[in-house]
Amino acid sequence: MTLITLFIFIVGAAVGSFLNVCIYRLPENKSIVLPSSHCLSCGKPLAWRDNIPLVSFILLKGACRQCGAKISFQYPAVELLTGIIAAALFLVYGVSFSFLFAFLFSSALIVISGIDLRHQVIPHAITLPGIPLFAAAAVVFMDLAVLDSFLGVMIGAASLYFVAVYYEWITGREGMGGGDVNLLAMMGGFLGWQSLIHIVLVASLAGVLVGISMMALKGKSSRHAIPFGPFLSVGALSYLIFGDYILPFFAVI
Ligand SMILES: [Zn+2]
Repeated sequence: MTLITLFIFIVGAAVGSFLNVCIYRLPENKSIVLPSSHCLSCGKPLAWRDNIPLVSFILLKGACRQCGAKISFQYPAVELLTGIIAAALFLVYGVSFSFLFAFLFSSALIVISGIDLRHQVIPHAITLPGIPLFAAAAVVFMDLAVLDSFLGVMIGAASLYFVAVYYEWITGREGMGGGDVNLLAMMGGFLGWQSLIHIVLVASLAGVLVGISMMALKGKSSRHAIPFGPFLSVGALSYLIFGDYILPFFAVI
C-alpha cells in the first residue's frame, strides 16, 4: 500500500512537470508538446537528467546547468503539490475511475490557479470544455446524481455572477471576471451543488487571511489584484479530499 502510494506520488510529480509546461505555454498559445523542455533563459534544451521532477531542481540547486540562470521556484512547487494531491486522492479513492477523474479535475485546477496567479486570468479554454466534461464524468463515474450536478453548474455560476455584479456595484471596480464564474460552475458540476457552500467559505476565509497578511507585509497598496481562482481551487480540492468528513458536519447544521 505504502509503496503504491509512493509510486503514485512520483507519477503525480511527473504529471506536475507537464502542468508547469501548460501554465507557461497555454496563455501564450504555444504548443504544450513541442518544443521539448528548455531553459527559459538561454533556450538550451534540457537533458533528461536535468528534467527529473523535484530531483533535478535539488541537484542543480535551482539554476540552469548551461547558463546558471535561476529556475523559477514554481517548477518544484507545482511538482510537489501535484504529487501530494495524487497520493492523497489515491488514499481516498483507491484504484478507480473516481481517482482518475478526481486527479484530472485537480490537475485542471492546478493549471488554472497557476495561470490565474501569473496573469490574473482564468482560461476559458479549460473551464468551458471542463464544465460538461467533468459534470458527465461525475455522473457516470463518481455516483453524483444528474440533478445535483446540474444544480451545481447553475448555482455555482449564478452565485458568483451575483457576487461579481454586487462587488462591482459597491466598489465601482471589476473585481471578479467571468473566469471565476465559469470556474465555480465547473466545480459545482463535478462536486455537486452541496459542495458550493464549503468551497466559497474556504475560498473566502483563505482569501481574507492572505489579503490581510499581504497588507501587513507590503502595506495597504497591495490590496489589488489578488486572484480568486487559487482560493476557489483550495476550497474544491479540500472538499475532494476531505469531503467524507465535511459533509456530515454540514448535515448537522
Ligand atoms: Zn539556461
